[in-house]
Amino acid sequence: MKRILVIYTGGTIGMVKDKKSGALLPFDMSKIYEALPVLKEFNCQLDSYRFDPIIDSSNMKPEYWIGLVEVIEKNYSQYDSFIVLHGTDTMSYTASVLSFMLENLNKTVILTGSQLPLGMIRTDGRDNIIGAVEIASSDSVSIPEVCIFFEDRLYRGNRTTKINAEYFEAFYSGNYPSLAKVGINITYKKHLFLEMPTLPFKAYKKLNENVALIKIYPGLKEEYFRAMLSMNGLKGVVLETFGSGNAPTEDWFIDALKQAIEKGIIIYNVTQCKAGAVVMGHYETSAHLAEIGVISGHDITTESAIAKFMFLLGNFEDKQQIINMLTNSLRGELSIS
Ligand code: ASP
Repeated sequence: MKRILVIYTGGTIGMVKDKKSGALLPFDMSKIYEALPVLKEFNCQLDSYRFDPIIDSSNMKPEYWIGLVEVIEKNYSQYDSFIVLHGTDTMSYTASVLSFMLENLNKTVILTGSQLPLGMIRTDGRDNIIGAVEIASSDSVSIPEVCIFFEDRLYRGNRTTKINAEYFEAFYSGNYPSLAKVGINITYKKHLFLEMPTLPFKAYKKLNENVALIKIYPGLKEEYFRAMLSMNGLKGVVLETFGSGNAPTEDWFIDALKQAIEKGIIIYNVTQCKAGAVVMGHYETSAHLAEIGVISGHDITTESAIAKFMFLLGNFEDKQQIINMLTNSLRGELSIS
């Protein structure tokens, strides 16, 4: 029988209606079988761990991520898989950062949540939990990845973005197909899974927050751009550019970036588009970026780029090594190896 640890961090999913007051209150996850008796049908033992405090995921921060990694590390040998119940707002960031912090993962970690609280009649939380448990307890597949299960799909977590605040199909993975699709049957696409690692599992517990996200837009003022690039302690910038990595060619813009690079700041070019990749040099409007030493983020999501940067800056010293790791895929977050 598989053993699964359900880690409850907060978010909409864990809310149930108080019978007396009608207010939505956090649900006691130790009573998961009471809330969803159908879970007893699966060939698994579910144990639960509740974070204190539980949070709306808009309050997510690196300390909390480190806490999450510590819980997984502490329980790693006793469980076959982990399910993390999490708010949807920052679920893609958490899935991304966990994918980097959990190296040589040979178990499945599935994040799920819901758009409607578990205690509401039309909740999507019930199906999301049931789907996640069915996948996590499956005997026919081993998925050594940090995933997100939502609505009817299992995604590689570090490829996802939350794209909908209203409908149940809330996540999108524009540059990598889903790993499984739930219909009458669960169709697993095993050829898309990461390979089972041969080296031992390692949990990293350091993150460096000296990373900024700068989204460019028509009308971006030189003064603002320079001010952002001269923030104290800044080590890495995720620069969200247009289309296939294009940005203004004006002298002040290039000069500001050049000065930042000369100061040792790493600039990582990612696209504002939800699918497709940065190809620096494809247009004249991106060739100059490559020339001054901006690093291509290829088809990484913004969430994953921020998570990867915090992870790399927190755990590695050598700048060239960090740049090499930003350009290569560490956990399947890029469509290049
Ligand atoms: N604000 C909530 C959160 O991210 C939304 C949700 O759970 O869907 O925690």
